[in-house]
Amino acid sequence: MKKTLFLLVAAATTLTTTAQSLYYTDSSNKDMARHTIRKEPLRQEIILPTIDGCKVLKADLHSHTIYSDGHVTPEYRVREAWGDGLDVLAITEHIEYRSNERNMLNYLKGYLPEGTQAANNNITGKTPDEKGILADLNHSNNIALKSAENYGITIIPGIEITRTPETIGHYNALFIEDANTIYAADAAESMRNARKQGAIIMHNHPGWRRKNLEMTDFEKQVYSEGLIDGVEIMNGSEFYPSVVRSAIENKLFMAANTDIHTTTAMDYSNQGHLRNMTFIIAKDARIETIKKALKARRTLAYSFGTIAGDEKLIKEFFLASISFETFKTDKNGKRTMRMTNNTSLDYTLNFGGNPVQLRAFTSRNVTVAKEKELIFTVENMWIPTEEKHPQFKLKL
Ligand SMILES: [Zn+2]
Ligand SMILES: [Zn+2]
Repeated sequence: MKKTLFLLVAAATTLTTTAQSLYYTDSSNKDMARHTIRKEPLRQEIILPTIDGCKVLKADLHSHTIYSDGHVTPEYRVREAWGDGLDVLAITEHIEYRSNERNMLNYLKGYLPEGTQAANNNITGKTPDEKGILADLNHSNNIALKSAENYGITIIPGIEITRTPETIGHYNALFIEDANTIYAADAAESMRNARKQGAIIMHNHPGWRRKNLEMTDFEKQVYSEGLIDGVEIMNGSEFYPSVVRSAIENKLFMAANTDIHTTTAMDYSNQGHLRNMTFIIAKDARIETIKKALKARRTLAYSFGTIAGDEKLIKEFFLASISFETFKTDKNGKRTMRMTNNTSLDYTLNFGGNPVQLRAFTSRNVTVAKEKELIFTVENMWIPTEEKHPQFKLKL
């Protein structure tokens, strides 16, 4: 009885193939129905403006997999990034902290000489030994590069130099050639090794496990040596407003990354958020173009609805996101216009009273007296000025 009912439902839905159709009968097996909406994975598209003919690429420059201390494979990380709407992903395993390695060796023990042990797989609190690192640190990047061929997103090969957070800190070397020749007992020497490969170096989560953002001796050394190219002003749920100013002073690109170890579904989308993204303004998504854009500091940081960065670039981004259309002019010349947000991001505006929302792909009506400017601030955009939010005075 149950089976008959099921087949009736399947037959009925096959006849009406609409967008809502839940089942159809599989052409290769007449006794099997399929759920239409589960047939193929879909990518979420995040629509952002173009700025001066450049795209705004959505990037995550910091992520982990099972080949350091993450919970998923590099293949999954790539698929997840594609599904989340990213254009660019860097897989950046910890060089010196690979907590899953012991499990991998246990799993493979039948293949290995007796007594085989990991070397230097957790030196963040210990002195490194003379063996160097035995694991192939390129493995994860190589899998991701192969996997990304099926998704059309750009992988930046990277690695995270991972030392005691209170004194030295963590640094991503991006655009590396060979992860296995970067490690040195001295973290600054690791950075120089990465530089020899043409890598650029990002200072990760500068406030993590710190009591304040005062520079340590190590940071002063590597900053003054010119080894740092960029800095995370946002990492996971952390935001370091004061670093926005110092990034500008030190001529560093600003980034917002997930540093994801679990899944972005759990940490972001299940909670109703887009994942953290570094917006990179570039002509295309080729790896050399992306590298040039980072060196030119053409980036903004996005995290939990806040966009932060350099004032000029942030204003360009906002103005490219919206459009105005006047549809009424009264006898005193007062105009009413439709202000439209053409992006997937929400904006919080303040026209001089309480804040109002201009959510993704919505419009609201605004009025401007004759020959007056439309004046407002964007409260979910953050710039390093006293006002903290960009103010616009538009002659429309
Ligand atoms: Zn880190
Ligand atoms: Zn990390």
